[in-house]
Amino acid sequence: MKKRQSLWVWGAFFVFVVGCEVVDFGYFGEIGPTAWSELMADYVACGDGTEQSPVNITTADVQVDGALPVVQTNYETVDAVLINNGHTLEVEYAEGSTLTFGNKTYELVQFHFHTLSEHRVDGAPADMEAHLVHRNDAGELLVLGILIHVGAENAFLAQFWNEFSLSESTTETDIEINVTDLLPADLDYYTYSGSLTTPPCTEIVTWVVLKTPIALSREQVDFFTYRVGNNARPMQELNGRTVLSPN
Ligand SMILES: [Zn+2]
Repeated sequence: MKKRQSLWVWGAFFVFVVGCEVVDFGYFGEIGPTAWSELMADYVACGDGTEQSPVNITTADVQVDGALPVVQTNYETVDAVLINNGHTLEVEYAEGSTLTFGNKTYELVQFHFHTLSEHRVDGAPADMEAHLVHRNDAGELLVLGILIHVGAENAFLAQFWNEFSLSESTTETDIEINVTDLLPADLDYYTYSGSLTTPPCTEIVTWVVLKTPIALSREQVDFFTYRVGNNARPMQELNGRTVLSPN
């Protein structure tokens, strides 16, 4: 009897902890983007924030600043660790790969995908968008956004795309990949200050959205849509922010 009671106590404790830490969010209905700020106290920025992402990039309003830095990547080859987390398909990246932007160097943590694209250029969404998430020692993030259109099969993704689990789980592989192979040749970009596009929507992100899109085949896009579905946060207001470009 005593043992059963203690199991109940631990069970209740477990539910309490899970209830506190994991409030699931989604892209439709009661847990959709307009409700994110009410799901948890920590998510308040999703509703009250003034520098939220994604945004529509109106090219006529982009301010050219020739003093902006070039994007310098130094990505290592790693074994692909594939995560289906229920919100996206994500590739966790082992330590040691960096991106330097001006006087700041960030470490690549992971990359993942959205459909449709989250950022739009002159109002038009792309079919998908890749996000390469980097963090520096100060806890600041730089996310490199790459717009994706349906076209030829993407050879980089073809190496591991079909290995993602249909259900929420992590798949460790010995498939060696280098995410440099996902980048377009031209790294010209738009940049602005924004936020995470998922809860808690924290406003700590330097966004660098590449102007040159890449291609995935229709089958590769459908594979993602079948596993994840639509996971693009709606457009957020610029609220006076300026989108910059070096060219
Ligand atoms: Zn993302």
